[in-house]
Amino acid sequence: MLQLLHLKKTYHVGDTVTHALDDVTINFRNSEFVAILGPSGSGKTTLLNVIGGLDHYDSGDIIINGKSTKNFSQTDWDAYRNNSVGFIFQSYNLISHLSIIENVELGMTLSGVSSSERHEKAVSALERVGLGDHLKKHPNQLSGGQMQRVAIARAIANDPDILLCDEPTGALDTKTSESIMKLIKELSHDKLVIMVTHNPELAEEYASRIVHFQDGKILSDSNPFEPKKEVKDTFKLKKTKMSYWNALKLSFTNIMTKKGRTFLTAFASSIGIIGIAIVLALSHGFQKQINDTQSKTLAKFPISISQTATDMNAATNRNESDKNVKNKGYLIASKPDNEKNTHENKITQSYINYVKKIDPDYANNISFIRGTQLNLLTNDNGKIKHVEFSNVNNSGSAIASAQLQGMNSVGINTSVFPKTLDSKQGTFLKDNYQILAGSWPKSNNDVVLVLNNKNQANINALKNLGISIKDGQKLDLNKIVGRTFKVISNNDYYQELPTGNFVPQKASKSMYDSSNLTLKVTAVIRGKNNSQMALLDNGIAYSDGLTQEIIKQNENSKIVKAQKNSSTNVMTNQPINKTQKEQFIASLGGSGIPSGILIYPNSFKSKDKVLDYLDKYNKGKSKKDQIIYTDMSGTVTKLTGGLLDGITDVLVAFAGISLVTSMIMIGILTYTSVLERTKEIGVLKALGARKRDITRVFDAETFILGLFSGILGIFIAYLCTFPINAVLYAITNMSNVAQLDPMQALILVIISTILTMLGGHIPARMAAKKDAAIALRSE
Ligand code: ADP
Ligand code: MG
Repeated sequence: MLQLLHLKKTYHVGDTVTHALDDVTINFRNSEFVAILGPSGSGKTTLLNVIGGLDHYDSGDIIINGKSTKNFSQTDWDAYRNNSVGFIFQSYNLISHLSIIENVELGMTLSGVSSSERHEKAVSALERVGLGDHLKKHPNQLSGGQMQRVAIARAIANDPDILLCDEPTGALDTKTSESIMKLIKELSHDKLVIMVTHNPELAEEYASRIVHFQDGKILSDSNPFEPKKEVKDTFKLKKTKMSYWNALKLSFTNIMTKKGRTFLTAFASSIGIIGIAIVLALSHGFQKQINDTQSKTLAKFPISISQTATDMNAATNRNESDKNVKNKGYLIASKPDNEKNTHENKITQSYINYVKKIDPDYANNISFIRGTQLNLLTNDNGKIKHVEFSNVNNSGSAIASAQLQGMNSVGINTSVFPKTLDSKQGTFLKDNYQILAGSWPKSNNDVVLVLNNKNQANINALKNLGISIKDGQKLDLNKIVGRTFKVISNNDYYQELPTGNFVPQKASKSMYDSSNLTLKVTAVIRGKNNSQMALLDNGIAYSDGLTQEIIKQNENSKIVKAQKNSSTNVMTNQPINKTQKEQFIASLGGSGIPSGILIYPNSFKSKDKVLDYLDKYNKGKSKKDQIIYTDMSGTVTKLTGGLLDGITDVLVAFAGISLVTSMIMIGILTYTSVLERTKEIGVLKALGARKRDITRVFDAETFILGLFSGILGIFIAYLCTFPINAVLYAITNMSNVAQLDPMQALILVIISTILTMLGGHIPARMAAKKDAAIALRSE
């Protein structure tokens, strides 16, 4: 039972005060058909809205089944509207983007009724109003009378106790009005129906009680009702709750009805994402170019540590003019810088260990230069022959592989590929080389033949390996792979003459058999086409580990001992100075300390880290114990590094601007959408939607929009990379500069979604706060 007690509601607009409800007291039976008649502006709609909880009374009380609503919270009112009240409006207020059945289900969707139960109830409600055959139609495909029937079905679907009808036939012709009235009359058998109308004939004919209303007051009541005894509180409410999934579905159907517009909206807000994606793709590509340039430069100009170094710090910058130096009429004699500042680097084992600890993330290739010579024999069909792994570029100076292009004059013999192939450093070969035949070396005893990028091997190198071949002749790679050599120890290789001199012995079967150190060519390799770090020279390359093994074997050999104690060359008897002696001992494998170290940093930035690390070694050490390196790329670094970093910074700044722009755009778009859907918000509220549900529906919509515009933006940006790359290629000859990183693309989609939701959330909150009564009055 519904009781109104001294209800008052006043509107203040400027100076005018309207008493829309002025002390209304009335009781309603649980089932009756009450018609409220009154002139326009007398407060009828206000009365219905207050009864339905869409609007709130200023004073008085509404008592529902014995329960006072004075202390109702907003959620209680929401639940009350959803459970107990059904609204029917003059202008139907159907949601046009939902089908008939979905419109009818909406109230139950809001209260979280399961979809099968919802469907069942909606169908039976529609059948009851005679629209069982039109379930899938949309409101704009129905006549006015049919639309009002849908609205009635929506109002009764959840089986409310009270039906509030605000001029339900106001927009219908007489015949249709009568059929609607009949329907409502039928419903009033088991419900309280309160109908506002300004048509006295209809009221007389169908209603069981007529209340005349004027200026917010009840003038007359044809059938008043006084409850006999005190009404017991039997009021119960089921709280409403809309799931995220339902919010998403609701928003999705809304979006789908406006495909073209949604697409334009998404496109507009995706422009920001497109901008950022392209900028990122470009800077990604430029960064790659920068890194390539850097490692290319660093491959040519590694950090080198040799036995004698020029102290560049001490050297004066002779090219820089000094304004303070005047012509004084005399000159000052000065040693050249390179003589004055020559520094002896004492490369010790502990320094080598220190260098080996350089973080591979900063420098993943370190070469140790050793002058160690390999005493090699090969068995060519029973004929034992001397062979050399000589580097042919390197005129005459013994063995070994790999120097850096352009550095031949330094005369380094390096064994380049790192000892263990599975360590981080060990990926060097695999990263930079491709196998033409055979398989990657696994042990220190495995060596590789390096070809140039035309698949050529130097004929002299092949001859040194005992392969006789003519210029231009082709050789099957499989004839090389599997070839073995034996390394002979100094003691077996050199013969001490009675004079005390040493000479190499003639190659013999017994000498060959004396060795159990067999080397095998496991692969023929060539630099990868795009590798910047294919540093190995044309010829045989072997590991530093092998050199170390040989050094271990020969360190204490007779010839080494003899040479250490002699001031002449023990082979030629010619006098040698200290440096020559050290070099010769090293070539005999008498010294484990490399004569030089080459460090290849991964980038300019990591080069600085490496240099810092090397500088740290010298801290606190006396001048003579310090190790001075030469940074050959120094000048190049300063020029290119800074410039390119600057470009990247500018690009990132642009990305930031696009981001802000797109966020503002999204906010505006959502705000517009909220304004436009005011009516729908009112309907949702009339059906019992909580503020949170309204926010959720809009959040879901912006979520879909954000996700879609993110994906759209990425897709368009991806398409844009093709023409951009074509143009860049034409201008700069750099190919594939713009490259979208999939990870970045994913992050951008997420950012787009989050930003859209953020931008849309505030308007969504505003929407939720909208006064339902006002929203429904807006046309
Ligand atoms: P009816 O439905 O009988 O035509 P209403 O209930 O819609 O009358 O309005 C009653 C009075 O209250 C009218 O004078 C109307 O202008 C005023 N009114 C209704 N809603 C508002 C509002 N939100 N703000 C100010 N005045 C209002
Ligand atoms: Mg009205």
